Amino acid sequence: MTARRVVVVGGVAGGMSTATRLRRLDETATITVVERSGHVSYANCGLPYFVGGVIEDEGDLLLQTPELLFSRFRLDVRVDTEVIDIDPAGHQVTTRSTLDGRTESIGYDKLVLSPGAAPVRPPLPGFDRVRVLRTVEDAERIAADVTGRPGTAVIIGAGFVGLETAENLVRQSIAVTVVEAVDQVLTPLDPELAILVAAELGAHGVTVETGVAVSEVTEGGITLADGRTIPGELVIGSIGVRPDVRLAEMAGLALSAQGGIAVDDVNRTSDDDIYAVGDAVEKEDWVGGGGSLIALANVANRQGRRVADHICGLPTRGAASLGTAIVKVFDLTAATTGWNEKRLRAAGRRYRAIHSHPMSHAGYYPGAEPMSLKLLFDPDDGTILGAQAVGREGVDKRIDVIATAITGGITADELADLELAYAPPFSSAKDPVNMLGYMAENVRSGACDVVGYDELGALTEEGWTVVDVRTDEEHAAGAIPGSVSIPLDELREDLHGATGPFVVYCEVGQRGHTATALLNELGFEARNLDGGYRTWIAADAARLQEPLRLVKRAL
Ligand SMILES: Cc1cc2nc3c(=O)[nH]c(=O)nc-3n(C[C@H](O)[C@H](O)[C@H](O)COP(=O)(O)OP(=O)(O)OC[C@H]3O[C@@H](n4cnc5c(N)ncnc54)[C@H](O)[C@@H]3O)c2cc1C
Repeated sequence: MTARRVVVVGGVAGGMSTATRLRRLDETATITVVERSGHVSYANCGLPYFVGGVIEDEGDLLLQTPELLFSRFRLDVRVDTEVIDIDPAGHQVTTRSTLDGRTESIGYDKLVLSPGAAPVRPPLPGFDRVRVLRTVEDAERIAADVTGRPGTAVIIGAGFVGLETAENLVRQSIAVTVVEAVDQVLTPLDPELAILVAAELGAHGVTVETGVAVSEVTEGGITLADGRTIPGELVIGSIGVRPDVRLAEMAGLALSAQGGIAVDDVNRTSDDDIYAVGDAVEKEDWVGGGGSLIALANVANRQGRRVADHICGLPTRGAASLGTAIVKVFDLTAATTGWNEKRLRAAGRRYRAIHSHPMSHAGYYPGAEPMSLKLLFDPDDGTILGAQAVGREGVDKRIDVIATAITGGITADELADLELAYAPPFSSAKDPVNMLGYMAENVRSGACDVVGYDELGALTEEGWTVVDVRTDEEHAAGAIPGSVSIPLDELREDLHGATGPFVVYCEVGQRGHTATALLNELGFEARNLDGGYRTWIAADAARLQEPLRLVKRAL
């Protein structure tokens, strides 16, 4: 039997996972990896931290070199070389050296495309002076700019990479403005959680301009659509990415409606001998079942391994993508999995949303930090549709547990049954994820009727009385306008003559739950405000675009 020839285009996340797994499965295969940039297997997720000086040595970003990959895996890795043409019928690719222009043909039995995604570059005047951050070379260019000690920088786009870059430029003592065309930062989050991230940026001196587009990039910065100018000696574009499908198009491969390379559940393209993985391909969406363009490292790596398995005849299983993602923004962590409420609403999907604000671990043990959690689920069958979390501690663990639960088909109510590790420095005996399960169970069973912050206005107009059951001091420090203060411990004795119906709230929803149960027992109609005052004030700050209102409050 002749040795199998596999050519991999793109030598980073998806491409290198494919190549190394292939070698472990097939010692005889001829495996060639072609990479346009000067580096393979580099940590693109670490690039913002190199710009900020957190990762001081560029070498730490380079996880492998062509030499090491040859000696350990016998991979023929060709850097500074791009694939410029594919001949599917003749089973060969044409490569060109980016250093001297020399071209070469390489034959393949199986071809794997992992060319990634290309940064979006809008056709704005002056955009050619905007830096992007995608490769090691991009990071080197920005790091060199930073060495010139610019006083100001503008980041266009408040997505994950834009905010990581903002933080890292602040670390370099640069005054940073982040401009985002939509009316919130981090669009994978819903507004009442995203506003917490905007507040964190503001607290660290970053100016955040949301809901306004950039109209021009000038010598000294940018001009906004509303005519204002913002100084920026350095301007970085972080507007998102588009699947890099140039090679696929050239080879006549089918593309998906959303513009990614179309693949089946083993990542085979419309040509049986060509696979595609990573940011360039459309994935099956876990929640909606349709196609989704998810550009995340975990997905690219999983797909790379799956393709190697399939090439080598191992049983493989397709896996849809949840889009689980996490980002550090100064001292805050924001994470998400599945769909957000905006997307569920736009899709007309039935859902319930619940919010909670638990401590990261037992409150009595030093260092406990509050976090904000949001769970979205199907009210009929309890299917978990998505979750979001923002906080300083323990956010990663909760979102990962929920992502695992979704993958395992565990319902929102069943989160209550998860037996999770507990000791005071790590969690509470009832972990925040368990608590979400209890809350979902209460909502679905009707044991506690809750009201979302966005339903409060309509109920007030209908004549419902809004009761704050926190202490008088808490009420005085800030309350929902028009609400009546009746502390929980006085509720049995004194209802100030009100007869209901009542919307009850406390700081985070827990005392409100007890108060609602009590009022129901006493024969009144009562509903608890989901997530309490903390969710309400975050939503209100998001509505009014006033993140700095939240800076002095705990989350
Ligand atoms: C700054 C930054 C931070 C990120 N942070 C995170 C994070 O924290 N978490 C996370 O999950 N994801 C993160 N990502 C996304 C993650 O890096 C990608 O999802 C992942 O790398 C995709 O893998 P890929 O193999 O599809 O593409 P890539 O890793 O981008 O690799 C594609 C490679 O193909 C090469 N190539 C393209 N065309 C050709 C050609 N014609 N010939 C030869 N070579 C070619 C390119 O040079 C590139 O090196 C980040 C991305 C960036 C840029």
